[in-house]
Amino acid sequence: MSVFDHPEFDRHEAIHFFDEPATGLRAIIAVHSTALGPGAGGCRRWTYCTDRDAITDVLRLSRGMTYKNAVAGLPFGGAKAVILESPGAPKSEGLFRALGRAVHSLGGAYVTAEDVGISVDDMRIVREETPYVSGLPTSGGGAGGDPSPWTAYGVYLGLVAAAREKLGVDAVRGLRVAVQGVGSVGLHLCKRLRDAGADVIVADVNRDNLRRATGIDGVEKVSPREILYADVDILAPCALGNVLNSETIPRIRAKVIAGAANNQLSTEGDGERLADRGILYAPDYVINAGGIISVAREYLGQSSEDEVRREVDRIPERLVDIFREAAKTSQPTNRIADALARRLVAAGPAAA
Ligand code: NAD
Repeated sequence: MSVFDHPEFDRHEAIHFFDEPATGLRAIIAVHSTALGPGAGGCRRWTYCTDRDAITDVLRLSRGMTYKNAVAGLPFGGAKAVILESPGAPKSEGLFRALGRAVHSLGGAYVTAEDVGISVDDMRIVREETPYVSGLPTSGGGAGGDPSPWTAYGVYLGLVAAAREKLGVDAVRGLRVAVQGVGSVGLHLCKRLRDAGADVIVADVNRDNLRRATGIDGVEKVSPREILYADVDILAPCALGNVLNSETIPRIRAKVIAGAANNQLSTEGDGERLADRGILYAPDYVINAGGIISVAREYLGQSSEDEVRREVDRIPERLVDIFREAAKTSQPTNRIADALARRLVAAGPAAA
């Protein structure tokens, strides 16, 4: 099957493949749209079962970035990189230098940053090879650095807004929240939820990350197999995508889904399945935009942390608009968000 026939191909502007045996870099960069500006989106390092899985991931993730940046009002298009890692392969400076050269070869059409499996230190190496990178260490109150705390902050605010909308509560105190995946974002989210008095249960396949999360006072663990179906008010998927599908949705007991993971819905129709079950779904790329807001402001320069906070503070109002429109038109929230994003992209930079 050619990439053009791939079900997730959405007239992406460009798809670049990199294979550098000397450094071990095998990567794909997909630029979905530069209609609103250079394509911005993180780089994911993952062991994919097949190359096709990697292509599927990068096609979906890059389109999601176009939508995310548009709805967040950022002057960026959408793109994403995936590094296809061999099982157990260590990170190396050479690998990230090679990634930097790959990003640089695109002449600024793609601006990279951290995603799953990539740290601030890795991006520091990428910066040695290209200026088209963000999510670097900062100093003196300027925007930037690790985007995960900002993502978690935005998810927390969005989760509270979704709880208010669906459950009629003003705060999460006393609510039960299940967090799937307690890596960079999930851990910060757990802390915020506990500080606000929520009962938090977590699951992770990584023992170290799980231990860090259960080290937070009052956080309980369940097995990764149980977390999606836990008897909770709110489910926060903060691991990987495709967790909401025809098999999982009928068994979910939460009334609200509000989490950080990209591409939570396996297919567009899964939004319908959730709506039919009366589950309020906060569209992933709207609620998890905190990190890219920080990354974008760092890249553009001259923004303070306060300005980033003010922008992230707007996530709940965007979600509430989507929730209300969905209720008014009897459509699933993901379709309302996608339609909004497509309108913004079609209208061009002036309107965004
Ligand atoms: P991370 O790699 O730090 O954490 C992911 C965690 O999920 C890891 O601890 C991993 O072990 C765990 N996990 C994987 N499979 C699991 C499973 N089946 N069950 C339970 N746990 C599992 O990644 P992150 O940066 O925290 O990002 C989490 C999600 O949020 C990703 O989907 C990412 O694309 C998305 N996201 C992250 C950011 C950000 O700022 N980091 C921004 C937007 C979206």
